[in-house]
Amino acid sequence: MTTDAAPVSNFLRTIIDNDLKSGRYQDRQWAPPPSAASARLAGAIDPARIRTRFPPEPNGYLHIGHAKSICLNFGLARDYQGICHLRFDDTNPEKEEDEYVQAIIDMVRWLGFDWTADGTPHQYFASDYFETFYQFAEALVQAGHAYVDEQSADQMRATRGTLTEPGTDSPWRDRPAAESLNLLRDMRAGKHPDGAMALRARIDMASPNINLRDPVLYRIRHVSHHRTGDAWCIYPMYAWAHPVEDALEGITHSICTLEFEDQRPFYDWILERLSELGQLAAPLPHQYEFARLNLSYVVTSKRKLRQLVVEGHVQGWDDPRLPTLAGLRRRGYSPGAIRLFCDRIGVSKADSRIDYSVLEQALRDDLDPIAARAVAVLDPVKLVITNFPADHTEPCSAPVNPHEPDGARREFPLTRELWIERDDFREDPPKKYFRLFPGNLVRLKYGYVVRCTGCVKNDQGDVVEVHCEYLPDTRSGTPGADAIKVKGAITWVSAKHAIAAEIRLYDRLFREAHPDRGDQDFLQAINPDSCRVVQAWLEPGTRAEPGAGWQFERLGYFIADREASTVDRPVINRTVTLRDTWV
Ligand code: ATP
Ligand code: MG
Repeated sequence: MTTDAAPVSNFLRTIIDNDLKSGRYQDRQWAPPPSAASARLAGAIDPARIRTRFPPEPNGYLHIGHAKSICLNFGLARDYQGICHLRFDDTNPEKEEDEYVQAIIDMVRWLGFDWTADGTPHQYFASDYFETFYQFAEALVQAGHAYVDEQSADQMRATRGTLTEPGTDSPWRDRPAAESLNLLRDMRAGKHPDGAMALRARIDMASPNINLRDPVLYRIRHVSHHRTGDAWCIYPMYAWAHPVEDALEGITHSICTLEFEDQRPFYDWILERLSELGQLAAPLPHQYEFARLNLSYVVTSKRKLRQLVVEGHVQGWDDPRLPTLAGLRRRGYSPGAIRLFCDRIGVSKADSRIDYSVLEQALRDDLDPIAARAVAVLDPVKLVITNFPADHTEPCSAPVNPHEPDGARREFPLTRELWIERDDFREDPPKKYFRLFPGNLVRLKYGYVVRCTGCVKNDQGDVVEVHCEYLPDTRSGTPGADAIKVKGAITWVSAKHAIAAEIRLYDRLFREAHPDRGDQDFLQAINPDSCRVVQAWLEPGTRAEPGAGWQFERLGYFIADREASTVDRPVINRTVTLRDTWV
């Protein structure tokens, strides 16, 4: 479990504080596995003070919006001595796959959360409850709370009414319960084709809340399910499956995003009916809604992410430009940075959009104290120290992490020929340019002060070599180091010792802050320069094992690509620059 900074309060914490004070969930019984009232009421008092759940549908990869929900649900359970379940909400057979189940497990673990408590892994699949859903449906039918409707989906839509007009009752609404029960059994037995009939709750076709106008509970779908195969041809609708899943698992606080607010009356209705019928044990779970994360410069809808992947706009679900957790990890985001980001954005009921720079800043703040430092030169030009002999090699060193000046050190040689950034030399410097230009004094970091003496150009007029002379007695760390004051310090690597590397300079995938705003095709906002590849030079000793990360001095945070990098052929992703340079 993670131990980040002390939690900031929010409306959900206030609710939980009050529930714990009033003892609302104190005497709740629990007997694993998740179960209906009969088994639950034989169980002991639940040792978990609260239960929350993270309920992804395994139909895609998790993204940064899910991280908000994960940190919230697992964080509340951790802080209140509760338990958070990982539940795969796999009631919709069409788009769900095992591949996504594994990817989701990996990412929740990677974020630092765990669902095992007292040796029990609280990992559940809604599809394991299919038989219980069915038994509950029969109980609802027998009690007159549900009926089989033989109208087509179109007819049901047409008779549902509008926000201002009530709906009209189905001609099948008042059929005898025994008749509905037989039809429901036939539906389950596969005697009817898709769409021939559906099981509907019997609530109120005139309700001002359209979600209470006899919502569909079961529909017929003759398709295989990733876990139950062909055992079922009727599948429960999300709106009733979800509250039942929560209740079976003894969830106390069921936290979801605001768009489900209008579903809450149905959530309560279905649980109350099943509780009255003795199917579910009280106290019942309660649904609370919070504002989903909207992040600028990205899309997070799974449908749009899938489109980017399938149409080849990016290289896969873990493309470092995507806001999927797999993509962010590959880009170099640490789990701590994502948790810090989720803490900083907080939880509220007000919809808002968070600027992407908030995520980037969380990464810098998380990595700055811990990242190993190294030097890389991304746009190299040669610097020749003309008063060094050709074979001169002088050992230099620097702290691996400047926050620990007495900690481990890195060693690298200073030689006559170095690689420096092309931008660190100007023949005609602009005002306030303090780096190399003819006549100027600059410090080579961890080395000497040098005086720039000029440059060599090729026939096209491009600078191919910069020349300088070093000033003896000015070496960093020696008594003479401060004798000459200079305004600029530049990074360098020995040309003879540098390691060649491919560096992928990523930028935002979209040029616009709101790529998927209502009226436009989000693909039009794609940034054509979101990945630029350069051949760079690295400080000797830099071992680009997959997943190794650094702060390259003056440049930013980088990570060796998990897929492509090897120590012999480094492939490195830029995670984020040191400063926010995007305008
Ligand atoms: P999408 O609409 O992209 O398909 P979803 O909400 O359908 O996403 P689920 O797998 O059902 O995806 O989501 C699992 C949980 O994550 C839900 O409880 C949902 O509320 C939460 N969640 C999804 N997106 C966000 C978001 N942007 N911000 C906060 N929570 C989110
Ligand atoms: Mg969903």
